[in-house]
Amino acid sequence: MDDRLPSLRRLAIAALALVCLGFAAFLLNVRSWDNGGVTILWPSNGLLLGILLCCRRRHWPAYFAVGFAVDLGINVAMGFAPGISGYLAGCNMLEVGIAAALMYRTVSPNPDLTERKQLMSLLLYGVVLAPAIASVLAQLSTSNLDLVPRFAAARHWFVADALGMAVMTPLYLSFQKREQFPGRSRLEVVGLLAMLVVVTVGIFWQTRFPLLFLLLPVLLLLGIRLRLAGSALGLLIVSIIGGYLTIRGRGPVSLMRSGSTATHDLLLQVFVAFSMLVLYVGDVVITERERLQINLKASETLFRLLAEASNDVIVLADLSGERRYVSPAVTTVLGWEPQELVGPTRRQIVHPDDVGAVEALMRACREGKPVETLTYRCVRKDGGYVWMEANLRLYHDERSGEPIGFVNVVRDVSGRKAAEEELNRTFRLVENLAVVDGLTGIANRRRFEEKMDEEWRRAMRDGSLLSVLMIDVDLFKPYNDLYGHVLGDSCLRQIAEAAQGVIHRSSDLFARYGGEEFVVVLPNTDSNGAQLVAEQIRAAVEMLGLPHSDNSHGMVTVSIGCATRALGHDAVSTVLVEAADQALYLAKSAGRNRVEVASASTIVG
Ligand code: GH3
Ligand code: MG
Ligand code: MG
Repeated sequence: MDDRLPSLRRLAIAALALVCLGFAAFLLNVRSWDNGGVTILWPSNGLLLGILLCCRRRHWPAYFAVGFAVDLGINVAMGFAPGISGYLAGCNMLEVGIAAALMYRTVSPNPDLTERKQLMSLLLYGVVLAPAIASVLAQLSTSNLDLVPRFAAARHWFVADALGMAVMTPLYLSFQKREQFPGRSRLEVVGLLAMLVVVTVGIFWQTRFPLLFLLLPVLLLLGIRLRLAGSALGLLIVSIIGGYLTIRGRGPVSLMRSGSTATHDLLLQVFVAFSMLVLYVGDVVITERERLQINLKASETLFRLLAEASNDVIVLADLSGERRYVSPAVTTVLGWEPQELVGPTRRQIVHPDDVGAVEALMRACREGKPVETLTYRCVRKDGGYVWMEANLRLYHDERSGEPIGFVNVVRDVSGRKAAEEELNRTFRLVENLAVVDGLTGIANRRRFEEKMDEEWRRAMRDGSLLSVLMIDVDLFKPYNDLYGHVLGDSCLRQIAEAAQGVIHRSSDLFARYGGEEFVVVLPNTDSNGAQLVAEQIRAAVEMLGLPHSDNSHGMVTVSIGCATRALGHDAVSTVLVEAADQALYLAKSAGRNRVEVASASTIVG
């Protein structure tokens, strides 16, 4: 089926409803017209407007065609000439068209006239502007006023159509909803409407007392209990019953001594219009307040959910630090129930050593200073302590903007703290490994180079002396061959220990240079001093008395080369090491187990 057309069923229902309403209005009003009165309320345009606001715009032409045909038919049936009937039906469609076009954006696709904007749009465009334009056009229908039906006079047309729109459109839109009277039982709805009918009939039947004012409280009750749908339905009931009886010369309006039937009708219309304004505005106000409450409740529920679903403990406290709210996560983290910590109990759960830091943090926060997170310990219910991290913020009074308390988001960081400590331990270990020789446990080559670099620069800066000893185990290759590598390693360890025992100054460094070679850095030490230390090391190794049958001394010995930085000469540190190495070479060639000193000239570089 072409989706530019609504379903035939819908069109037929709309046509039927328009026909019924049109004839009902005709029957209601015909007597009024005959008596020189006016149309009280013209409902079919309001219904058509409601239908248009609830459908797609591409369906509008089909509904306009149906509306036009029904209107034309009714006018012709009422006995008007086809030309005028067509013109007036055109005015009606134009009226509905203007209102629908102007309101569509605001009202569709969620028609809800309890929304201030939508109601304003209905009142402005549907109730005032569209009927005003259409009524002027209807008035212009012909120059021969006798041919113009009485109801087409601009003033009468305007009021009747405006009321029709004001009552029928909200009624139609309310009945489009799944629930017309939310939260009300059928009995209550029927009871209230019946009451209104009875009161309206009662007021309009008698002609002794001007009791019109009594209707307003009943209408208000209907509006409060049954809301917009009830208000619109109530106004329709009052218009029909009141209109019918007023035309027949009954009711409080007819009590007016002066005035024509038209004036009486107008008075009734004014009453309906006034009641409508009161009811609709009241309904918007009530609905807005309800919406506000619902939103408030929803956001409170949302924030409670967030606070309670979080693994962090969320604490609200006043400015003195008294806890007003503690989220349930505290039970998982610390074992306390939230209510054990809330209120004036003032249970101190911060570790005594950390109380000062926490108080300082609160003070800084109160003074508006930027605060960092704070790591501190909290006591668990079982007595143990847990590392926590506080994230403290001030919160302010909505209206005055004054600070009224703290929000503290507290996180269990014991796992992180333990990992940090483990990491630090490992880091220290790795750092140590990087500068310590695995076999002998003394400083390694890397540490030696660092130290050498440091001391070289210090010596140049301060103009101080710096000596280096290069130590090499004599005939160590044959030692390994003779006694094996295991004993060889052990021999190196003992030599390292013996030599280390000789070095006393904390600024000195004894390191393994590589293989069976060792090196000593002696800051602030002249050539004599270096020679002395070297001699002591040589003697200490000899004293170990480690047997070595290939060595002419019968035991393990070392040869040592010394070099001292000559004052006033800048060069690179390697020059000093090379000089010590050359001196060592000399010691080797001179028979081993001895100390040789590099001549000053070799060190200048
Ligand atoms: P020289 O008196 O001329 O120094 O003779 P040497 O045999 O000591 O000569 P060289 O410096 O060439 O020999 C070094 C030997 O030291 C080579 C290797 O067998 C041994 N060596 C080096 N590092 C280690 C070590 O870590 N453990 C053991 N067991 N032996 C090592
Ligand atoms: Mg060697
Ligand atoms: Mg050697």
